[in-house]
Order: sequence, then C-alpha cells, then structure tokens
Amino acid sequence: MYDFIIAGSGLSGAVFARQMLDQGRSCLILERRPHIGGNIYTEEVSGIQVHRYGAHIFHTNDSRVWEYVNRFAEFNRFTNSPVANYHDELYNLPFNMNTFYEMWGVRTPEEAKAKIEEQRRSHYSEHPKNLEEQAINLVGTDIYEKLIKGYTEKQWGRPCTELPAFIIRRLPVRFTYDNNYFNARYQGIPVGGYTRMIENMLQGAEIRLGTDYLEDREYWDSQAKHVFYTGAIDAFYSESLGPLEFRSLRFETEVLNEQNHQGNAVINYTDAETPYTRIIEHKHFEQLNGQLTEPDPQSGPKTVITREYSVPWEPGMEAYYPVNDARNKDLYDRYRALAERESKVLFGGRLGLYRYMDMDVAVSEALKLAEKF
Ligand code: FAD
Ligand code: UDP
Repeated sequence: MYDFIIAGSGLSGAVFARQMLDQGRSCLILERRPHIGGNIYTEEVSGIQVHRYGAHIFHTNDSRVWEYVNRFAEFNRFTNSPVANYHDELYNLPFNMNTFYEMWGVRTPEEAKAKIEEQRRSHYSEHPKNLEEQAINLVGTDIYEKLIKGYTEKQWGRPCTELPAFIIRRLPVRFTYDNNYFNARYQGIPVGGYTRMIENMLQGAEIRLGTDYLEDREYWDSQAKHVFYTGAIDAFYSESLGPLEFRSLRFETEVLNEQNHQGNAVINYTDAETPYTRIIEHKHFEQLNGQLTEPDPQSGPKTVITREYSVPWEPGMEAYYPVNDARNKDLYDRYRALAERESKVLFGGRLGLYRYMDMDVAVSEALKLAEKF
C-alpha cells in the first residue's frame, strides 16, 4: 500500500511527489508515456539537449519557486530573444525599439510613439472587443499586419477578430532597446536538460512507465491511500459531460550536418503562408553563464532543429493549449464540481486543472496543493 499514487510524471506530478517523499510518504508514479517529464522532457540527440515537446524556457519572478527548482538543477543564463521572420524580413521580438527601428527606421522612443499613434488613430477602440482591436491599439497596423496577424491565426486556427483580446496582452511592448522576451527576474534552462531535473525530483519514488492509470483505475486505487491525478479531467470522468477542447501541435525534428543553422534559438514565422509557426534550433539553448558550455555547442558539426505546427486537436491527440472560450470554461466548471466531491483523488497540473500554466506556475500550484494536503 502506497501513501500516494501519482498519475503523470510531468513537472506538476514531480513537484508534488517530491513534497510527499520529503515528508516520508511513499509514492508510486504512473506515467503513460515511455519517459518521465511530461512536456518538458528533453533528450540528447547528437550531443544536444532536444526539447521534444517545444521550446521550454524557465522564467519567474517568484524567488521561492526559483530557489526550489535550483535544488534540482543548475540553470544556465539563457535569455530568450526570438526573432520574427516575415517573408524574409527580420525583426527583433518582443516589440521594442529594435523592432520599431527595423520596421520604420525610427530611432527614439518619441518617434516610435508618434508612429504608433499615427497608425492606430483611425482604428482606436476604447474597449477592444477582440485580439485585432487590442493589437492595433498597442502597436499600430504595420506591426499587427506583419508580426501578429499571420502568427496568431496560424496558432489558434481562427481570425484575430474572433479571438479574445487578453491573449496578446501577454506580449511585452517596450520603448527601450531590449530584446529580452520575458519580463522576469529569473530566467534560464537546466544544464544537462529538464529530464535530469525531473529525475532528481523523483529520487526515491517508484516509477512505472507506459502505464495509464485510467486503464486500471480500480486496481491502482486499491494500492494507495491517495491519488494525485495530473491527466485530463474530462478523461477521468470518461468525458461523461462531453470533451474539453484543446489546440494541438505537430513537431518535425531534423538533424542537420551544419554547425549553426539559424543563429538563434527561436525564429517565429509570422506570415500566413509559411505553414509552421516557429523553428527552434536546440543547441542555442545551451549557454552557461553567458559563455558557451564546454564543448562549445555551436562548434559541433551537427545541429538539431524543430519546426512547430499548430494543428486542430482531435480526441486521441496530445492536448497542448486549452481553448479559453465560454463553452469550455463552463464545461470545465462542471467537471470541477464533480472533482471537488472526490475524497481520495486530488487534481493538479495543466490537464487536471484545464489551465495554461507556465512552468513556474505549475511548480507553485503543485507546492500549494501539497501544502493544502
Ligand atoms: P504535463 O507536462 O502535460 O504532464 C502530465 C503528464 O501526465 C504527462 O507526462 C502525461 O503523459 C501524463 N498522463 C496523463 N494522463 C495520464 C494517465 N491517465 N495515466 C498516467 N499518466 C498520465 N512554460 C514555461 O514556463 N516556459 C516555456 O517556455 C514554455 N513553453 C511551452 C511550450 C509549449 C509548446 C507548451 C505546450 C507549453 C509550454 N510551457 C512553457 C508550459 C509547460 O509545458 C507546462 O507548465 C508544464 O509542462 C506543466 O506540467 P504538468 O505536469 O502540469 O503537465
Ligand atoms: N504572438 C504574435 N507574434 C509572435 C509571437 C507571439 O502575434 O511572433 C502572439 C500570438 O497571439 C500568441 C501570443 O502572442 O498566441 C503569445 O505568444 P507566446 O509566444 O508568448 O506564447 P506561447 O505560444 O509560447 O505560449
């Protein structure tokens, strides 16, 4: 008899397990994939740590979370500075003085603000009703047309006029020459990859890979006093109220006989015609204290790139982004009401809570659930 069965070995399950193990409780981890780590899983290919489920950059303002993850990994000081490619014109991201210079040739914040003001004047809406109105309010029509519209419509599979304004509020707009994408106090990537960090968190737990908790739920429930479930909440209830909707992703990874393919970790393709949203070149994530790690990852003869395609989700596919609309929120609330009646099972993680969570939020939510328990 275990104290806990933890369904899912992603970051949420791993943090929760660590907290329980540190209190002397026994944990059995069930993971349906053939590896631990969930979506932050990294694996070595040609000596390079490959982010199998998309680029993952840890960033947070929360010192408690930062100290916590640093117990399990040494973080490099990678700073995310993506570049946008619009029909082979290149722009720095996030929207900052470098972008404004590249777009309009303006050199001072005053000139940039005047340009944005001129472009948004005829479109300004006091209460933006959708993403298009919000984006034009923020940065004017040129940046909206070249850097936002195509990317966002590919990402979400819908016109910007039908998407909620809040999606774009996450993107910083700055009147300084600063290409650091995240406004975060702490940022980095674990040296040696995320999988090693998760392995360190799970020290002392028993792990069964390739095991789906839901396939033999009665048996597993009989083996533990409590269950921490980080799978999809609708799947837990056999979708009895209907399926929750997601966006899915397709990753196309290639090993190239080149030292340095694109010169940056992330390049976004912001036009509507290029079918993928971004290309990541994994070796550029591996920097240590501003220096390149030894051996210098850029000097290796090979490189690994991944093209990321956003695709509609269908049952049976991996679910990545919850669809934040009223219908899905309402459906989730109804599943949540069922979950609150469970005496033995605690729900967590991005699938269990049907919430897009950055890694720092996943850590802090799992810590809170562990404390509450
Ligand atoms: P998951 O990683 O999904 O783990 C859940 C685990 O449960 C999976 O391993 C799954 O196989 C397993 N499971 C599910 N059902 C069952 C079952 N029935 N039985 C057994 N096992 C089961 N965050 C950042 O902070 N920075 C970033 O740069 C960033 N980039 C991202 C890029 C992409 C493309 C995506 C999709 C997300 C990104 N995130 C990023 C968010 C990050 O991925 C999440 O915060 C994190 O993965 C959440 O971990 P989790 O454990 O909650 O979920
Ligand atoms: N976005 C955009 N152009 C870009 C990058 C992002 O218009 O080059 C918009 C897009 O709507 C996206 C949102 O900003 O959904 C958030 O993007 P971010 O890359 O921060 O989030 P992620 O996709 O990594 O979760």
